[in-house]
Amino acid sequence: MERTADSGTSLRIAIQKDGRLTEKTIDLLEGIGLRFDNYKRSLMLQCRNFDVELLLIRDDDIPEYVQDGVCDLGFVGGNVTAETGADVSVLHGLDFGICRLSLAAPKDGDIKTVKDFEGKTIATSYPNLTQSYLKKNGVNANIVTISGAVEIAPRLEVADAICDLVSTGNTLKANGLEELEVIFESETELIQTNKTLSPGKQKLIEKFMQRIDGHQQAERSRYIMMNAPRSAVPDIKDIIPSLKSPTVMPLADEEMAAVHTVIPIEQFWEVMEKLKAAGASGIVILPIESMIL
Ligand code: ATP
Ligand code: MG
Repeated sequence: MERTADSGTSLRIAIQKDGRLTEKTIDLLEGIGLRFDNYKRSLMLQCRNFDVELLLIRDDDIPEYVQDGVCDLGFVGGNVTAETGADVSVLHGLDFGICRLSLAAPKDGDIKTVKDFEGKTIATSYPNLTQSYLKKNGVNANIVTISGAVEIAPRLEVADAICDLVSTGNTLKANGLEELEVIFESETELIQTNKTLSPGKQKLIEKFMQRIDGHQQAERSRYIMMNAPRSAVPDIKDIIPSLKSPTVMPLADEEMAAVHTVIPIEQFWEVMEKLKAAGASGIVILPIESMIL
């Protein structure tokens, strides 16, 4: 019997088979408690403890598989989804695979602004995104679609400039190219099919999403414990940017108290310094596995 999005309860999730996103995606799935056998060898993987199967494919194919309901969910770069124009819903941005799609040209050439691309040849693996950006800017250029090693196209005189993914910019620099315009900002996303799903699958997706939310929250937070003189506790409460009121517990030394709470990771150093200044000591920071607010 043909599998359709509105039949059955087992979720089928597409992930990249072998590339930059693979390990981080598997880490995330394992981080939310899903267990798989050796993923490197199969195209299809059954999860041992959740009603999920993984389909491991090239990232280019993921948006369309999800659009068509062959897979219910997919983990893929926003750049790929946007390029394919697939009809899917983005459920979640996931803080990895962060990059940007940029126009770049030889450093010492005459292309410096978007208008300078007029009449030029641009090599890219993202012809649709590139074309629509140029069109928006009223620029006509000749786009050459190539699938890899785009950054060497100008040196090979295949193109005057390129439009390619950049994360650090080192690859561009190493090839004598200058990044001129960011045309798309991207991160890995969890996408869902817009086909109707069975109620069983919808429930499972809700459960799955709750775990991802908890995991993301936990990754951005730290559990912090410290001791402080009781008299300093009001000041300490004011310093802590916690979501909930901190836990304050008595210690054997009656003058002292223990304070426990959760703080956002980006405020960690600033808060630490202030806490020390307010009289806190023995400050311990712990990672959090997951959290439900
Ligand atoms: P596949 O064989 O699955 O088609 P690929 O070669 O197209 O793989 P990868 O190079 O593995 O793709 O990149 C996968 C995704 O990683 C990109 O689509 C993008 O979302 C993200 N990414 C993050 N940083 C970069 C970068 N510096 N260069 C390329 N991709 C990046
Ligand atoms: Mg690809």
